[in-house]
Amino acid sequence: MGISTVLPEPAVDSITAPSPLKQRVIAAPYDLLIQGGKVIDPSQGIEAAMDVAVASGRIARLGFNIPAGDARQVIRAHGKIVTPGLIDIHTHVFPRAGPYGIPADPYCVHRGVTTVVDAGTSGAFTFPAFRKYDIERAATRIRALLHVVSIGMVAGSTPNMGELEDLRYCSPELAVKCVNGNRDVIVGLKIRFSRQYTGPNDIEGMKRARRAADEAGLPLMCHIGGPYSPLREFLGMMRKGDVWTHCFNDLPDGILDANGKVKGEVREARQRGVRFDVGHGAGSFSFGVALRCLEQDFPPDTVSSDLYSANVEGPVYGMPETASKFLLLGMPLPEVIQRTTQNAAETFQFREEIGTLKAGAAADVSVFEIEEGDFAFTDSYRETRQGRRRITPVVTVCGGKTFYPTAVPHPDSDE
Ligand SMILES: [Zn+2]
Repeated sequence: MGISTVLPEPAVDSITAPSPLKQRVIAAPYDLLIQGGKVIDPSQGIEAAMDVAVASGRIARLGFNIPAGDARQVIRAHGKIVTPGLIDIHTHVFPRAGPYGIPADPYCVHRGVTTVVDAGTSGAFTFPAFRKYDIERAATRIRALLHVVSIGMVAGSTPNMGELEDLRYCSPELAVKCVNGNRDVIVGLKIRFSRQYTGPNDIEGMKRARRAADEAGLPLMCHIGGPYSPLREFLGMMRKGDVWTHCFNDLPDGILDANGKVKGEVREARQRGVRFDVGHGAGSFSFGVALRCLEQDFPPDTVSSDLYSANVEGPVYGMPETASKFLLLGMPLPEVIQRTTQNAAETFQFREEIGTLKAGAAADVSVFEIEEGDFAFTDSYRETRQGRRRITPVVTVCGGKTFYPTAVPHPDSDE
């Protein structure tokens, strides 16, 4: 059944639940049924109007015409897009310890994103607080990349006090010890290379990060944007499974050469298995650079937001907006979904089956509307382009629980 044949339906949030009496008499096999939406699940090559049944926090079944009476709660998703819960592999969700962090839930699980990876906001000295006050309390599934620099990102760029300016803080031993105590939630390591955060210490920082990642046996995510030392030196030290985030920045010594071609050492790194991540952020995503890469058959492996305090009210806003920008650049919707679900899940070992709607996986599901209209989208360099489609979150299911878009609380409130 094509989605275009579906007649207008009641609002997606109309939920039917039998009376308590009826519930006692008839035991419905499913807790939740998401009915009639267009399912896009790249992990299984599925693009079809189907139903998703959830039981005990897991995907129970993906099928056609599953009766509404088989579930205690029904979400009618006709005319909507249904995908595995989105995974954003670059965010900053450790508030109250430095200028970057935002509370995860209002911006993530309420807006289609069920799993986020915090990209190095915390280091070995600050990770225990991140774990206790944010990772363990949030409804969003939070996993962490531990900053190899033990203080993490406690200072911003004004006044600039770069975390790699004093190499004493960059301790592979401390990082590996912290990883070993928290392997259930730490999925990789992170380090930043921009000249204002490192000064001339970047190559030494990269050597130490390499050592930490190798000893921990985890991928290393490198922020590279306007580095002090040449890009090729960092790429040369990156291995299969490592991630270059901010790959479409328009800063000096980026992904393109002087003629606008993807550099040879960049293609060589991809061939070795280095992964390329968007990490939009307030200063790292250029429409022009991204378009040139797409035109040269160099798409990103993952689309991520780099959501943090200074970009959450624009130009990033969140993952749906970031994903919409790739529709604008001509990437087909299923490929965008693949880069925010399946590919993201492959990047790190999450110890939980996510990024898929296969039976038995975590019951993480996102329901979106594709709004049609004339929308203005802005990149990190204040260039605005008009798009025709916008991905808008309708309802999100995380671990079997439902979340609707909400007003964002004041940043000073303690939730
Ligand atoms: Zn970041």
